[in-house]
Amino acid sequence: MNLDLSGEDLAFQAEVRAFLAVSLTPELRRAGERLTSVFCEPRYSLPWQRILHAKGWAAPSWPKEHGGPGWNDVQRAIFAAECARASAPSLAPMGLKMVGPVLMGYGTPEQKAHYLPRILSGEDYWCQGYSEPGSGSDLASLQLQALSDGDHYVLSGSKIWTTHAQFANRMFCLVRTSREGKPQQGITFLLLDMATPGITVKPIITLAGEHEVNQVFFDNVRVPKANRVGPENQGWTVAKYLLEFERGGGSAPGLGVGLDRVAGVARAAHADDRAHRRRMAEAEIAVTAIDMSERRVLSELASGKAPGPASSMLKVNGTEAMQRIDEIGIAALGPYAHVEQSAAREPGSNIPAVGPEQGLTAMPRYLNNRAASIYGGSNEIQRDIIARLVLGL
Ligand SMILES: Cc1cc2nc3c(=O)[nH]c(=O)nc-3n(C[C@H](O)[C@H](O)[C@H](O)COP(=O)(O)OP(=O)(O)OC[C@H]3O[C@@H](n4cnc5c(N)ncnc54)[C@H](O)[C@@H]3O)c2cc1C
Repeated sequence: MNLDLSGEDLAFQAEVRAFLAVSLTPELRRAGERLTSVFCEPRYSLPWQRILHAKGWAAPSWPKEHGGPGWNDVQRAIFAAECARASAPSLAPMGLKMVGPVLMGYGTPEQKAHYLPRILSGEDYWCQGYSEPGSGSDLASLQLQALSDGDHYVLSGSKIWTTHAQFANRMFCLVRTSREGKPQQGITFLLLDMATPGITVKPIITLAGEHEVNQVFFDNVRVPKANRVGPENQGWTVAKYLLEFERGGGSAPGLGVGLDRVAGVARAAHADDRAHRRRMAEAEIAVTAIDMSERRVLSELASGKAPGPASSMLKVNGTEAMQRIDEIGIAALGPYAHVEQSAAREPGSNIPAVGPEQGLTAMPRYLNNRAASIYGGSNEIQRDIIARLVLGL
């Protein structure tokens, strides 16, 4: 594992920095700085995606033939780190990091030709319909019924915790097409248009007072069979492929930015006492360990290995470090960390509008990031995967 950047890598880093300095408008940078969740609203993320797309940099991990920039793993890591340091708004992962790679792996030529360019440009905004009331960790028990009717499936049931369903014009989802055999064997992967008659999106407001997740109801929704990805009843294989990417690493640069932010808060609040410095040192050690592990996975990826169960380990460590950093920030702010400050927001936005920067963002960030150890497969489930597949228990 070589941690030193080559001359070529340093030149690339300088190119990325120069691009970010020119292209990241103050408004976009502010949106990135004040983001209190992993998901940035599309009114900020989409303009940024369009700027990146024009440069050919919207999808760093896509192969060149589908519109990726053709970077190697080190360049991708440099790009992610520079974007985090510059507070660039995060791009929605549902299209670029989830359904895009799935279509490359399992889509028909027609599906690839239609959807991939629209994902890249941001013309389609996707949401992920996996979880249901009663089917989260035990996802294979999902019940959203898809009955065959000629060239269509007819969907009845509901999905829950669907991030940004209120903005999305497309959903990729898992439906039940058979009740024979093991539950995993009767699941099919479908793409659908959110404007199809019979779909209703109802908001779920989080503890931080934000509208990020939803419950989506399906009442006899007709979906063409041409929108199926992979064979009928083999959606579980497709879904598992996607989850490996959902859990993938790359969190160290963002965690480093979080540490700097918390250090600044503590200095400003005169709370950088001995106990605080000890907690900071522990968190810094954890982030350094994550950085090393992510670099190791990167070098394995470069030699053609899939992320595999290592992505579970990175997910557990990354989300726990994130929550630890939030807790240090809250402790440093003391009485200024108050959830009611989140009321001072731009309407309909998860980006606070006014007030002392840290007080406004620390508590909503802390509350939202509690969810990080739940979504994408809870940390208990990740530990179970590590126990079985890594430790052989
Ligand atoms: C903010 C947020 C955004 C989300 N976005 C989406 C989205 O866009 N699309 C989507 O499909 N889903 C989404 N989810 C859903 C997410 O994937 C589920 O919440 C998650 O899989 C856990 O499922 P559950 O909520 O049903 O909890 P449960 O599965 O009921 O789990 C409850 C608790 O029991 C533990 N537990 C369960 N089974 C075991 C076991 N076998 N061993 C040990 N412990 C266990 C869990 O770890 C957890 O602590 C989102 C969730 C959140 C919080």
